[in-house]
Amino acid sequence: MMPKEVAAMDLAHERYEGLEQKILAANPGADVQRIRSAFEYANDHHGPQLRKSGEPYIIHPLAVAEIIIELELDQDAIVAALLHDCIEDTDSTHDEIARLFGAQVADLVEGVTKLTRMQYTSREDEQMENLRKMFMAMAKDVRVILIKLCDRLHNMRTLQYQSDVKQKEKALETMEVYAPIAHRLGMQKLKWELEDLALAYLDPVGFQDVEQELENITSLHAGFVPNMQSHIRERLAEEGVQCTVYGRVKHIYSIYRKMYAQNKTLNEIFDLYAFRVIVEDIPACYNVLGCVHDMFKPVLGRFKDYIGTPKPNGYQSLHTTVVGREGIPFEVQIRTWQMHQTAEYGVAAHWKYKQGLANSKLGSEREFEWVRKLLESQQDADPDEFVRTLRVDMFSDEVFVFTPNGDVKSLPAKATPIDFAYSIHSAVGNSMTGARVNGRIVTFETPLKNGDIVEIITSRSAKGPSRDWMKICKSNEARNKIRQWFKKERREENIATGRAMFESELKHIGLSLAAITANQELLDTLLKRVRFNHLDELYAAIGYGGMSAQKAAGRIKEEMTRLGRLERQRAEQEALAGGATGDTVYPSAAKDSILAPRRSNSGIIVSGLDNCMVKFSKCCTPVPGDPVVGFITKGYGVSIHRKDCPNADPARRKPEEEGRWVSVAWAQGTDAAYRTSVEISAKDRDGLALDVAMALSAQKVKVNNLSARSQPDGYAIVGLELSVRDQKELNGVVNKLSQIPGVFLVRRAGG
Ligand code: MN
Repeated sequence: MMPKEVAAMDLAHERYEGLEQKILAANPGADVQRIRSAFEYANDHHGPQLRKSGEPYIIHPLAVAEIIIELELDQDAIVAALLHDCIEDTDSTHDEIARLFGAQVADLVEGVTKLTRMQYTSREDEQMENLRKMFMAMAKDVRVILIKLCDRLHNMRTLQYQSDVKQKEKALETMEVYAPIAHRLGMQKLKWELEDLALAYLDPVGFQDVEQELENITSLHAGFVPNMQSHIRERLAEEGVQCTVYGRVKHIYSIYRKMYAQNKTLNEIFDLYAFRVIVEDIPACYNVLGCVHDMFKPVLGRFKDYIGTPKPNGYQSLHTTVVGREGIPFEVQIRTWQMHQTAEYGVAAHWKYKQGLANSKLGSEREFEWVRKLLESQQDADPDEFVRTLRVDMFSDEVFVFTPNGDVKSLPAKATPIDFAYSIHSAVGNSMTGARVNGRIVTFETPLKNGDIVEIITSRSAKGPSRDWMKICKSNEARNKIRQWFKKERREENIATGRAMFESELKHIGLSLAAITANQELLDTLLKRVRFNHLDELYAAIGYGGMSAQKAAGRIKEEMTRLGRLERQRAEQEALAGGATGDTVYPSAAKDSILAPRRSNSGIIVSGLDNCMVKFSKCCTPVPGDPVVGFITKGYGVSIHRKDCPNADPARRKPEEEGRWVSVAWAQGTDAAYRTSVEISAKDRDGLALDVAMALSAQKVKVNNLSARSQPDGYAIVGLELSVRDQKELNGVVNKLSQIPGVFLVRRAGG
């Protein structure tokens, strides 16, 4: 509530009355009561606060509101401008403002407050661009940016009261962040003023230099601007063109840039003077252009048609440079009134057009739509950064956060500390153990918000990323780096986990690993289908996430179905041919074909039988070096057993089959791999299967199958299917496996 004892008409109230007059002048139907109570509220809350200038603080929000009124923004924006420092500098809250002035106003004020709290410490160009983007992304409503720009403009106008350090800091921010944003929003007038104000503090000598030179040269051209102005006006009147003509000297910063950046002298700058001819419609623009070129000599290559091809920020005009009789070159800009509004006020011009629509409540959605349309209309014009960046910023799928040093990182929306860590360096991500956001410890899943300050806690003893991180993170960069890590650092683990994932996926779709690894030929065919040469490569790929287990299993099932179909067709054809006895054996995908021969030349010599079909029994899985014996099966060739296999025990042979047992011997010098099974008994513990996998890998043994199952008594059985060349290699493997901690028995199956 406002204190009643306030002096009848203090400075602040006096200024407020002026403001109200302006509002009523522009819009007689305005709800000034609401604006007045916003003023009283702010005045009350800022109370005795003073600005550095010694003025009451309330003068500042009043001045900002005045600029907002100049831009002819809507009433909510005016109210929000009056309240814009209340949340930041007084005990006022969003909720209170929402209750008194509506949610829209409260959101605007809160938006401005967020931008006010943003810190700009970085100086690199790339960082500056990210800062600008973050700035725009943080403001969900364009009006928030406009109020913040007006706030900055007034602060720049009164910067002389600040310390040297503050002056430089604010001026730099203005030049690097605020002016480019004003430019992007097409607000030329505001941009020029910001640039000139900033330059005066950033390079006072250069600024005065240009100012002085400008004064010198323009004093030589005394009367040039008004003369030329009326000259043009008269000629156009003769042609019957309705127009308004303005003339001016260009703003200092644009001349400064040409002199310093392009190293030109003032005499080499063709557009020191600029005249504007504003007309009713587009045909008149071209008409005026013709007249101007008729009156003065055009400078070659200086004509630009921004009506046909608007600038990315929506700017439209015809530009030409001509030389007058005095030999002074000058620029003429020709545009319609509407183009003029857009050129001066950019996005803000929107509210000007809206004025005619009495009481039309344009929600923020419609406003968005307008901005979107503005951008779309520019799309053909220039596929340039403006369209891209503003589009991304306003309808954002990016989030911008700070490093503790004040650098800005751009990440995909909803990015997490994991994404942030990997965006800094893969080493940071890989050694991350925790994260802080705005000083608070957070979980790795926490989505980051615009303007957050993110800090990653790392440790040299970190175990590296977890596989879950790939599901949590949002950026491809992080995902790729994590995948890379798993690929490199955890090959053995990848193989073990990949195998487990693959097997469980197979089970899920009704297949078993054994069915796939049943014979080498089939396995090779299947691996080819998923583009791997080796089963371990497939496992590793699944393990590090290069291929999903579902995809691999799915492809393999397809391939097996296809092979099964082929075989059935072949069997049918043979049956039709009449020659089929059912005795022929093919590598079969459709049935468990562990008994099928691995290769036609099996490395076994069967006495008395040349070139017969040979297979190795599943019960004892013999390898070269094992004493072996053969059994002639009915239709499946000769089955090879180890001599110590229970099934080959002479005491257990059936008498009627005695004649089918034949002696066999290993051939010399085969380099084939033989599949065999080994069973490990061990004390159950974490990492047992992994240790087994690692031991096998160290021995370079090909593992076809590994399955571990816990026993109820605290022990575990690990079943292995290996491919080895001979008994010697196998013995070496068994020996190594026996040395694994906790393992107390390693034995061959069937032995
Ligand atoms: Mn302020």
